[in-house]
Amino acid sequence: MSIYLDYNASAPVDLRVLDVIVEVYKNKIGNADSRTHNYGENARSVVENARKQVACLLNVSSDEVFFTSGATESNNIAIQGLKDYAESTGKKHIITTAIEHKAVLETVKYLNQEGFDVEIISPDRSGRVSADSILNKVHDDTLLVSVMHVNNETGIIQPVKEIGEYLDTKGVLFHIDATQSCGKLVDEIRDLKYNMLSFSAHKLMGPQGVGVLVLKKKKYKLPPVKGIMFGGQQEHGIRPGTIPVALVAGCGKACELAEREYKENTLKGHQIKIKILKELDSSGIEFSINGDPDYCVGSTLNICMPGVSSEALMITAKEYCGVSNGSACTSKNYAPSYVLAAMGIPVDQIECSIRISWGPDSDVTEVISNIHGFLNIAKQIRS
Ligand code: PMP
Repeated sequence: MSIYLDYNASAPVDLRVLDVIVEVYKNKIGNADSRTHNYGENARSVVENARKQVACLLNVSSDEVFFTSGATESNNIAIQGLKDYAESTGKKHIITTAIEHKAVLETVKYLNQEGFDVEIISPDRSGRVSADSILNKVHDDTLLVSVMHVNNETGIIQPVKEIGEYLDTKGVLFHIDATQSCGKLVDEIRDLKYNMLSFSAHKLMGPQGVGVLVLKKKKYKLPPVKGIMFGGQQEHGIRPGTIPVALVAGCGKACELAEREYKENTLKGHQIKIKILKELDSSGIEFSINGDPDYCVGSTLNICMPGVSSEALMITAKEYCGVSNGSACTSKNYAPSYVLAAMGIPVDQIECSIRISWGPDSDVTEVISNIHGFLNIAKQIRS
């Protein structure tokens, strides 16, 4: 039977999270913003409990946590929400990287059309963007730097710690898309300096359709981010609309579990990677890893197998594993990965590259036996 190895696209919901969600749907009915009855109050207490669980995982304060529909929305609010502030201060220079998720890249592209000056920095072959290449571009009119913590396609960790520390001294706003690191690089995130941080619950085994934007206070003041939708005062106007109480509860529970279990999860993730690499070595198939393995998270592997078309492999080896060759948001029509292209990887190698990603509940034995079958197919279709 096929095994799911596309956790970076979306991880399955932890059954303990699911229990919480079902319990809320069944027994905590109501709108968290209703003031006229106990149902509203009960729903509110579920939301505030979840907010604490998120805050605890990230080591921020509860009033810095804002629930959204996911990282796409969080990224949009963090960036577009600065428009008024930019207009009033005249600071309209934004720096980001070529390997960001489209939710960042498309948003800065829109601001560019609106008169913002946007600079997009490329990584080198290691998959990392150097901190200096970003920091050298900062000037008096720089409004924002937006850099992801971990890339979704390569698993490569970006130098957000160095960048954040420097920007903090310069008073330049810093946004981190931590969608692929939240719940995984727990100690590292707690140690970062930033103003805004985004993630989606479904990447850490929470439900799809809910995420978080952290707005870190400085001298008791939130960053100058405004909501980008009109409608209501929920989440202090940062994200108007009825709060999805059950999903928010699931997000909170996923954060609580990640906080409790991230150390063993990390260890397990690395062990799976070592075993997959051993399997690759013993298969005799030629392969290389895209990105510097020294900077890669333990739960992602992006490999190139020369002569093995990733499209053909994914179709013919479907019975073994569900993997991917790009971000799910861009995979409707095949186009070579823009992330790998930005790293300077030639198109023929990109076309032979796949991403394998797993999670805390992946069964090692099952992973390895399916990877074995998968690699046998790769050998058969190699041109
Ligand atoms: N940022 C990154 C780094 C991601 O990997 C993703 C999901 N692929 C997103 C943002 C967007 O998350 P969502 O689709 O849940 O809004």
